[in-house]
Amino acid sequence: MKLMVVGGAGYIGSHTVRQLLAAGHEAVVLDNLSSGHAQALPEGVPLVQADLLDPAGVKAALEAHQPDAVIHFAALIEVGESMRAPGRYYRNNVVGSLNLLQAIVETRKVPLVFSSTAAVYGTTDAVPIPEDAPLHPESVYGETKLMTENMIHAFHVAHGLPYIVLRYFNVCGAAPGGDIGEAHPNKTHLIELACLTALGQREKMMIFGDDYPTPDGTCIRDYVHVQDLADAHVLAVEALQRGQANAATYNVGLGHGFSVREVLDAVDAVTGKPLTREVAPRRAGDPPRLVAGARRIVDELGFQPQFTDLQEIVRTAWEWHRKHPHGFGQ
Ligand code: UDP
Repeated sequence: MKLMVVGGAGYIGSHTVRQLLAAGHEAVVLDNLSSGHAQALPEGVPLVQADLLDPAGVKAALEAHQPDAVIHFAALIEVGESMRAPGRYYRNNVVGSLNLLQAIVETRKVPLVFSSTAAVYGTTDAVPIPEDAPLHPESVYGETKLMTENMIHAFHVAHGLPYIVLRYFNVCGAAPGGDIGEAHPNKTHLIELACLTALGQREKMMIFGDDYPTPDGTCIRDYVHVQDLADAHVLAVEALQRGQANAATYNVGLGHGFSVREVLDAVDAVTGKPLTREVAPRRAGDPPRLVAGARRIVDELGFQPQFTDLQEIVRTAWEWHRKHPHGFGQ
């Protein structure tokens, strides 16, 4: 198949492009390069530099490249920033997605796989969280993802658009070999920050709260490796191509979690440099435990995560950061 990967120059998008090629598919990337990196793309993959806020440009790209399906990653992704600049988030994530949907139904009406997030669930007591849990996003970011899920469903009902929504839990790690990986301008993710601290770029690691109702008092998250997540997208587009799983929504996670302390222990073990740790107050909006109900995608799409060992996951992130201490800048 030929896939148009929207936001394909970003962290998850670029890993997905690789896994698509490895599975024998063809990819063309559409990205505005606001946070993505052209260097993250394999040689020979065409890059259309266009913005979803330019409907004519998006339509022209679809008409020029005639993809068999579209995978949509392009979004602003920072929870804190979304609360300070809601207009930017609604415009970029919701209006941008609307323009893409409109362009798809006006051109080829090909299947769509959409990047959503566990943030659509908000705080919940459900452990693990099933896909049919109530949806109460607590940030503008989560709200923009839920609004987009709902828009896609409406286009499915009205125009027959086939789709799959994937709700990611905590994405981490890097392609083995360490040549592409996470390189966001603002760093907030635990494993990335711990690796950069181990490299001496920061003094110490803050543990945001150690008085949560969990075994060691720190928050538990479901850490899914970016390459496994990329494979989930390959499975999703292939299923839609076969006419399977149309209008389905899947969590993507391991179905079990690790605490902040367990993650930092794994980073210490992998880097061989024990990090200085300091317990800080809880970070606003962090639920104690977020773990994916992860059976549905296993049962229906045959998803088989390869990276289930925390140290192995961390090792791939460490390899990337060690080789590229300043991301794609070096
Ligand atoms: N965390 C932490 N120190 C940090 C960064 C994160 O203790 O420097 C905690 C955070 O409070 C959360 C977990 O690590 O409980 C995962 O946070 P991250 O930002 O990686 O992902 P999120 O769960 O917010 O999507």
